[in-house]
Amino acid sequence: MKKHNFSAGPSILPQEVFEKAAQAVLDFKGSGLSLLEISHRSKDFVAVMEEARTLALELLGLTGKGYQALFLSGGASLEFLRVPYNLMTLHGKAAYLDTGTWAAGAIKEAKQFGDTIVVASSKADNYTYIPKDYTIPEDADYFHCTSNNTIFGTQMFSFPETKVPVVCDMSSDIFSRQLDFSKFDLIYAGAQKNMGPAGTTLIIVKEEILGKTGRQIPNILDYKQHIDKESMYNTPSVFAIYTSYLTLQWLKENGGITVMEKKNDAKAALLYAEIDRNPLFQGTSNAEDRSKMNVTFLLKDEAHTEQFDKIWKAKGISGLPGHRSVGGYRASIYNAMPIESVQVLVEAMQDLEKSV
Ligand code: PMP
Repeated sequence: MKKHNFSAGPSILPQEVFEKAAQAVLDFKGSGLSLLEISHRSKDFVAVMEEARTLALELLGLTGKGYQALFLSGGASLEFLRVPYNLMTLHGKAAYLDTGTWAAGAIKEAKQFGDTIVVASSKADNYTYIPKDYTIPEDADYFHCTSNNTIFGTQMFSFPETKVPVVCDMSSDIFSRQLDFSKFDLIYAGAQKNMGPAGTTLIIVKEEILGKTGRQIPNILDYKQHIDKESMYNTPSVFAIYTSYLTLQWLKENGGITVMEKKNDAKAALLYAEIDRNPLFQGTSNAEDRSKMNVTFLLKDEAHTEQFDKIWKAKGISGLPGHRSVGGYRASIYNAMPIESVQVLVEAMQDLEKSV
């Protein structure tokens, strides 16, 4: 039986994407060859790369607006390093918003390059909220934020107006909701949540912000090199990119981001309503900052843990425990998660209530 997979990443993808990707591993486009054994420079794979890059920009409404899309390797974690390398000027500074573990990881890397100003942090409150009152220095080379905090279950619903280039780690909510993406100058996202398997990172970058640092950038870390080589500077992660491409096609065929956002809103509303109604549970993040992708919650009385775990496991639910650093529960309800699975989780919570 297929499980209801609430894992935070790698995570659920549409079933038809799994099937098409599996087929391509066996026989890619009727070629008699596996996707995994053909050259990345073959006509068929070059077409996949081109279409995936085009589709990513199209879905975000960024076609013809001076942006490039890249599919690179190294995870979002490598972008923590690649961003300052490409954007922080030699004696310049960067501004960061500290909203969670991953934001803090990005700050740590930036500090190796230069003056890294943390404009605000919710660390002292265990990252339960998104700071809102802060000032971004006008002379910063860029401002970096994390749109969705996968571990703590908070999400940014507004972004600062600033003249400084805005960089955003959208690893755990890209393609889940409509934003004016042209307000961002650089977006990056590890594929393994809303887009595909682990192994590739989507980077969307406005070309005009590059080439201004006065720094010698090693080729593999230089966004310009990757743009010039059409995301094929070195052998790309063919399987991860092809599967991401299939997911982007699925998204387009199913109405794009706007339709997806409505479904995501409904799923999140259903689950948060139960967390707030059920006397045995409580949410962990500030109500106005609650993530619609990663819903974090606790049992008010930990004595019910064993019983609750037994109930949800019996219903075929998987991947519900919170991140190892915070505990509790985390239901990741990415694009591919059907509302029916969220309903099964709600029923598990109600069954616990009836049983105590
Ligand atoms: N940023 C965010 C918001 C994440 O959720 C994660 C991974 N869960 C990362 C960065 C790190 O990504 P990766 O493991 O792809 O390096």
